Amino acid sequence: MLRTRPLVCLRPLFRTYATAANPHALVFLEHRDGAIDSASLSALSAAQKLGGEITGLIVGSSDEVKQLIPIAQKLQGLTALLHSSSPQYATPLPELVSPLLEKILSEGTPFTHVVSAHSSSAKSILPRVAARLDVPAVSDITSVEHDTSSNSTTFTRPIYAGNAIATVRAPSSVHLKFFTVRSTAFKAAPAGSSEVEAKAIDPVQVADPPTEHIKTELTKSDRPELGAASRVVSGGRALKNAETFNSTLEPLADILGAAIGASRAAVDAGYADNSLQVGQTGKVVAPELYMALGISGAIQHLAGMKDSKLIVAVNKDPDAPIFQIADVGLVADLYEVVPELVKKLNSQ
Ligand code: FAD
Repeated sequence: MLRTRPLVCLRPLFRTYATAANPHALVFLEHRDGAIDSASLSALSAAQKLGGEITGLIVGSSDEVKQLIPIAQKLQGLTALLHSSSPQYATPLPELVSPLLEKILSEGTPFTHVVSAHSSSAKSILPRVAARLDVPAVSDITSVEHDTSSNSTTFTRPIYAGNAIATVRAPSSVHLKFFTVRSTAFKAAPAGSSEVEAKAIDPVQVADPPTEHIKTELTKSDRPELGAASRVVSGGRALKNAETFNSTLEPLADILGAAIGASRAAVDAGYADNSLQVGQTGKVVAPELYMALGISGAIQHLAGMKDSKLIVAVNKDPDAPIFQIADVGLVADLYEVVPELVKKLNSQ
């Protein structure tokens, strides 16, 4: 829910942005378990393409922020770090973080860009603040270029489930540009050697928050995280039920050190958890190896995996659309192929 606050106090400040000659990006760095999310590190890489200064922003509880400052200070590409801590930021609800971001953008440094991963939190926070500041937000970008002479920024972003690429330009008249980054399109920024200055920002207390965090339920897994895994073994409707899904895919994923993914049909039928869905309305992945087992290859599924480096498909139907994008295709029964493959890999 968006509260209405007058924008009048913010408009004059935009005029200070207009004078900014070089780009200066503010990158929202999300984190979990004492580490910066790799998707945020990809956002940092994207921000480096702008060719200017980059300030990172960490928001969290005071313990989290204390732990993360020395890590973030050394990130390659950062020129400064802002951090804000408060118990209310332990679960960074968009309704609580947005006022802080708005405050940072309305005073002090004349930022030209606000950047984040295209994560579920950030894609709620950034457009919210952009709307309040009356500037554009471009989402899920896969490339970015900034022309300093004209002060315009050009982005590409997939549309129609990845079947078309839109090129979008934010012209010089727009002095503050927000964008979220598709993490698979940019390498994660590595740690550097030098340490940037870190500055604390007072939290913005939201007296009567419109939403409240009740609980978080996390699926614990020893497997690599689906969005960042270099190998993914995915199953579709052909896996019949949850038990067969797990008993068929797990031995193969174990031996390959792979994450497990699923088509939406498999998720909707209850074979696999929602967090495993790959596709337009699931996760977008681009691993070194993607194995599609008993997945037909609907465009909505392809939207989430077609940029994988090597696609292997096993399907009984020789006309299954997945074969049009597979590098290696096997027309076969997965219940024969997968156990045989596991046996062969085990014997090596
Ligand atoms: P099916 O299309 O039923 O394919 C099953 C395949 O298994 C068939 O090709 C069959 O030949 C093969 N098969 C059967 N038995 C065997 C066997 N023993 N061995 C080998 N092969 C076998 N889908 C997604 O995956 N991700 C999304 O994010 C997503 N978002 C969507 C968003 C919207 C708005 C809409 C409308 C749809 C979305 N879908 C998404 C659904 C999508 O259109 C398909 O319905 C879905 O991907 C089909 O899943 P599937 O390939 O597992 O099932």
